[in-house]
Amino acid sequence: MRSWILDESPGRYRFGEIATPEPGRDEVRVRVVASALNHMDLWVTRGMPRPHLPHVPGCDGAGVVDAVGEAVTGVAAGDEVVINPAVSCRRCAACLAGDSPYCRSFQILGEQRWGTHGEFVVIPAANVCGKPPTRAWEEMAAFGLCTLTAWRMLRRARLSAGETVLVVGVGGGVSSAGLVLARAMGARVFATSRDAAKRDRAVALGAEAAFDSGAEFPVRADVVLENVGGATWDRSIKALNPGGRLVTCGGTAGPVVEVNLPRLFFKQHELIGSTMGSYAEWDQVMGLVGAGLPVIVDEVVDLDAYPDAVRRLEAGAQLGKLVVRH
Ligand SMILES: [Zn+2]
Repeated sequence: MRSWILDESPGRYRFGEIATPEPGRDEVRVRVVASALNHMDLWVTRGMPRPHLPHVPGCDGAGVVDAVGEAVTGVAAGDEVVINPAVSCRRCAACLAGDSPYCRSFQILGEQRWGTHGEFVVIPAANVCGKPPTRAWEEMAAFGLCTLTAWRMLRRARLSAGETVLVVGVGGGVSSAGLVLARAMGARVFATSRDAAKRDRAVALGAEAAFDSGAEFPVRADVVLENVGGATWDRSIKALNPGGRLVTCGGTAGPVVEVNLPRLFFKQHELIGSTMGSYAEWDQVMGLVGAGLPVIVDEVVDLDAYPDAVRRLEAGAQLGKLVVRH
């Protein structure tokens, strides 16, 4: 198949021919119609983590089933599907309890498995579901990893209707998905960005107000949604109400932060880590998407322009998802 390929890590992507993957017993092969970029596309080029090489990047995608393994039921060639990028063994105690993000065999498509920025991708049949017929391919390729991640974050932070959420660094995929999910959950949402145009866009998407990420945040929130890390951490903590919860899924601007213990215990804050989501959480997200949840797409590019999209992601120039049309 024709695909974007990583031969070395650290390294750079090249477009070329690589063996078309064959589906195993309980897997399906999907001809990708559209895929989307994530920070994983950058991390694997920097050796953080170093994937098994050669590697095909791409965590998100949607397409048409092309072949199915011998044990697959309920999915057939020709089905139009959306791909859930969170893969687990579906047999261990954590998986059977519905806590697949705690599975010791947990994998992210495009990290430990070949991803979606090629002609075909192979994935367990359990990780595809029917594409809502009313939604565009570009949207269905874009929401997966970021919306699943944001949904679990808001659930783990126990966000309830009427509470206040601060979304720090609203340009990223998880952040913009968090904004629309928190609005859908009936919360008041505030956002931050260094970029005035992104602040305006956040307000247009339902934020009550948006503030400069580089200054003190003039708001107090019950839940702070973080994935920036070092650069904003201290101001994110100061923005928490007593009893507030900060939930993080990443550290794009620095992995190490300081915790002021008196502030943590006197204010009775909670710091919550979260990553990806379970199969049940995926079904909940699909329900919201099928019912019309907005999907924030920044730009759609052709497959041969993938390196341009990677550079736009690296520069942090986007608000929402960068999508590749195959
Ligand atoms: Zn498992």
